Amino acid sequence: MKVSVVIPLYNEEENVMELYGRLKHVLEAMKSGYEIIFVDDGSTDSTFSLVEKIQEKDSRVMAISFRRNFGQTAAFAAGFDYADGDVIVTLDGDLQNDPADIPRLLEAMKDCDIVSGWRKRRKDPFISRRLPSIIANRLISKVTGVELHDYGCSLKAYRRDVVKNLRLYGEMHRFIPAVAKWYGVKITEIETNHYPRLRGKSKYGISRTMKVLLDLITVKFLLSFSTKPLQFFGPVGLLSSLAGFMISLYLSLEKVLLGRAIGGRPLLLLGALLIIVGIQFIGLGLIGEMVVRVYHESQQKPIYVIRKVLGNEDK
Ligand code: UDP
Ligand code: MG
Repeated sequence: MKVSVVIPLYNEEENVMELYGRLKHVLEAMKSGYEIIFVDDGSTDSTFSLVEKIQEKDSRVMAISFRRNFGQTAAFAAGFDYADGDVIVTLDGDLQNDPADIPRLLEAMKDCDIVSGWRKRRKDPFISRRLPSIIANRLISKVTGVELHDYGCSLKAYRRDVVKNLRLYGEMHRFIPAVAKWYGVKITEIETNHYPRLRGKSKYGISRTMKVLLDLITVKFLLSFSTKPLQFFGPVGLLSSLAGFMISLYLSLEKVLLGRAIGGRPLLLLGALLIIVGIQFIGLGLIGEMVVRVYHESQQKPIYVIRKVLGNEDK
């Protein structure tokens, strides 16, 4: 079994050497083959030249350098594309994760497809980081149905085929377990160490919470309705149209049977509005259905994922 370790680095010149040393120590002690993939996410300090030096001396290291800062998710995605291990482990490049946890992660990997680290004793500021994270984890667990204590922990291990066909966008790397659940993978969680950041600066603040929240909406929508958008927009559209129709009918009867003037009634406006909104929702759903067909048919995207096929060898 080969392990690929993927590490995103953005201005981590003070950490990269020590991280490499510790990682090397842990990986050499294991029986399996390994590679280390450093992804430099457009650092403006000397991070990449340090990585380059490491790579020159160590053939098990791969160094990828981005032209500019594309973000942590993109860095992970590049690492996944280049990794050729059977298991892919990700961790942060700032020494907040502990490379010594990797063997335990791999051990837990034996009977599942994703092992997620859980920073039970997380060493980050409470108000700006831990509190939003607690709320976010509860919310993501509830909405996606994949219960994890710590979606944000970078220290995770994935079976190769889980990440190989994944396309990541935005801040999406934290949602890999939720998305992968759709493929039917098995996920476990183990407690891992966590340390305060001793050197270098954190790249994130409270503003990330908003991005994560919006990504959650995207993920939820895509997971539940990506192959049937009309099922999402349709019911709202139908209900709205129906309500609008009833209101209009009621007003029409009043006008015709009782001869009352209805031109100045606010209800008239509401009825018309509900009908129009309803039709638009249904139209939106139908456009969605067309987009889905274009997407799946032009790109040959399957709507299912196969583990293996038996009895198909000679075809
Ligand atoms: N990182 C990155 N690109 C970015 C921001 C961060 O590759 O645009 C890397 C960073 O170098 C570190 C990891 O992602 O290895 C986590 O970043 P950070 O420690 O700043 O996040 P925090 O631990 O504060 O959530
Ligand atoms: Mg950090």
